[in-house]
Amino acid sequence: MKRKLQDNLKRVRHRMEEACARAGRSPNSVTLVVVTKSAGLDIIRQLVELGVADLGESRPQELSRRAAATSEWLGRQALSPASSLPPDAGPRWHQVGHLQRNKVKLVLPWANLIHSVDTLRLAEEIDAQSGRAGRVTPVMLEVNASGEPNKHGVPVAATLHMAELLETLKNIRLCGLMTMAPLTDDESTIRTVFERLKELLDEARTEGIVGKQFTDLSMGMTNDFEYAIESGATHVRIGSAIFEGLQQPVGTVETAGS
Ligand SMILES: *Cc1c(COP(=O)(O)O)cnc(C)c1O
Repeated sequence: MKRKLQDNLKRVRHRMEEACARAGRSPNSVTLVVVTKSAGLDIIRQLVELGVADLGESRPQELSRRAAATSEWLGRQALSPASSLPPDAGPRWHQVGHLQRNKVKLVLPWANLIHSVDTLRLAEEIDAQSGRAGRVTPVMLEVNASGEPNKHGVPVAATLHMAELLETLKNIRLCGLMTMAPLTDDESTIRTVFERLKELLDEARTEGIVGKQFTDLSMGMTNDFEYAIESGATHVRIGSAIFEGLQQPVGTVETAGS
């Protein structure tokens, strides 16, 4: 199983490098966030052992549960003389899916980056709780760049104004924009959405309404990450392509680690 996982990772990283080369970008300019929602704790441990530094979760409960269990496991590993992990091993966790205000408390201790801030009220809640915890939380603003109804994210037309508002909150650090491509096989539709997000990022920067830290674009998943990289993605969020072909026993999340 670990062999298959390693092969999948290698293949995805290779495709990322090729997309970077086509776009004339350095391969170091794109972070692979492995989205683990379908994977159990055993697989998460293997990912850490394989050197994956960034893990993402779509559901807040899963993020806090898995991050806590992984951290506990790493603590035990550190005490074991047989451990081959470096002492500072430990993934960074990314909250990539929709976050409700009443779940902020759950993810805040674990999330190194929240990709999915889509309302001022949510941003204010993260800001207030971060302030109480004495920390600054890096976040991205989620944009509904395709304009589809019933989709999370601020409308394109409201993005710059919202970025300006978030920039005033002291305990969050607004580091960029995030979007989800529309569900379609049409390459040009997908590319247009990614290019729109890149334009918004550039516009916010040239207009000076955001700080120097506003540089990141979280876009691209299994079906479209190469287009996203070619359009300027700095974070791709990939699940299916990493877990393809792994026979995942049902219920491992509940039982592993005990
Ligand atoms: C599940 C998920 C992903 C990964 O999707 P794949 O198509 O499996 O690569 C990325 N981002 C978000 C927000 C997700 O919920």
